[in-house]
Amino acid sequence: MGSLLIAGGTVVTLGEASRVLPDHAVLCENGSITRIAPSPELHVPADETLDARGKVVMPGFINAHTHFYSTLVRGLTKAEPAAGFQEVLEHLWWRLDRALEPEDCRLSALVALLEAVRHGTTTLIDHHASPHAVRGSLDALAAAVARVGVRACLCYELSDRDDQAIAADGIAENVAFLERCARGPDPHLRALFGLHAAFTLSDATLERAVAEATRLGAGFHVHVAEAATDQEHSLREHGVRVVERLNRLGVLGPKTIAAHCVHVDEREIDLLAATGTAVAHCPQSNLNNAVGVADVPALTRRGVVVGLGTDAMTENMLEELRAALWVRHLAAGDPSTGWSETLATLLVGNAAIADRLWPGAGLGELREGGAADLVLIDYHAPTPLDETTFGGHLVFGLSQASVDTTIVAGRVLMAGKRLRLDLDEAALAAQARERSRALWERF
Ligand SMILES: [Zn+2]
Repeated sequence: MGSLLIAGGTVVTLGEASRVLPDHAVLCENGSITRIAPSPELHVPADETLDARGKVVMPGFINAHTHFYSTLVRGLTKAEPAAGFQEVLEHLWWRLDRALEPEDCRLSALVALLEAVRHGTTTLIDHHASPHAVRGSLDALAAAVARVGVRACLCYELSDRDDQAIAADGIAENVAFLERCARGPDPHLRALFGLHAAFTLSDATLERAVAEATRLGAGFHVHVAEAATDQEHSLREHGVRVVERLNRLGVLGPKTIAAHCVHVDEREIDLLAATGTAVAHCPQSNLNNAVGVADVPALTRRGVVVGLGTDAMTENMLEELRAALWVRHLAAGDPSTGWSETLATLLVGNAAIADRLWPGAGLGELREGGAADLVLIDYHAPTPLDETTFGGHLVFGLSQASVDTTIVAGRVLMAGKRLRLDLDEAALAAQARERSRALWERF
């Protein structure tokens, strides 16, 4: 893969050291960072040198929960207005996912992944559904991930909301992809066992899923207590709250990601903490669906690892971070609350979640020996930029600036805002438009 020198930038390491290093250089060799030093000291020949003057060099962003398949819904107006979250699913998402064909899955992933590269998001944890095209769907997504060159963790969302054959396919698809990842470890790909949500899964199906995941040593990726209706259903049908039911059935654990957790009580928060289950906070989606907002400070205080996901609302993690801050202030009626806990979801929580999937790779930080996943953002700081002020620059400055360069495992996927991929972005969008027209006909 060769060597890449990024020189002259302000290097923000994040991670435990969390340093802000003006005029530093980063040397990447064979996919890893081999040196970080002051630019004048790191004058070494490299296959390529990138001039990072006027730029902040920082770790690529991680998205802890998204759905590539949502891409082709943009502009669709056929869904009837929803009176609540259940109707959002019934009127829109479950109609859309039933209409998806394999080619729609492939194209929606490619489009979403190019948008991720443009916004400096280098690792994505996806949750996929295409009930009438289940088998092979994760291989199609994996091919798109390989084509673009980012990292992704994939799963198929098992559910009983369709028929038994589709549920059986859902289990088989997760098993096949987990086995594929175990057989031929690809540094860019990881797998979890996908579950839709407690309210669309019977105990019997969950027991089958847990048996397979346990055999394969896999964790789960599941929507948890996104709306109050998930809790109402659980109490009515099973006599216990959602997190307790999932815990009893063996779904929780340090490899599991629970997306949302908007409607969890203190006992459930303690169960999430005790089992080491990570939570993916998705504030823009929660605002859009009017379901409430997760209490990130409460989750953090009780020891839950909380990351930040977008639920496909954007591939721009800094936009999601800003929304997370504003809604926290509004929910608490306090403009001074939750700053550090909210920033930590993106900067610390997502790195911790990625470390469970890519142990020791050092995703979400820049350190010697760690993966060379970096972004360069155009930025001339108008106020002092150091460790004590970085958060303010991230939220109010860097979030408004352009990502210039995106690098994954030492490979430059975009530089000078130009994609360096064997993909024609305009042609791809034209194909996606064509497919969406047909998809919307079937909707
Ligand atoms: Zn979701």
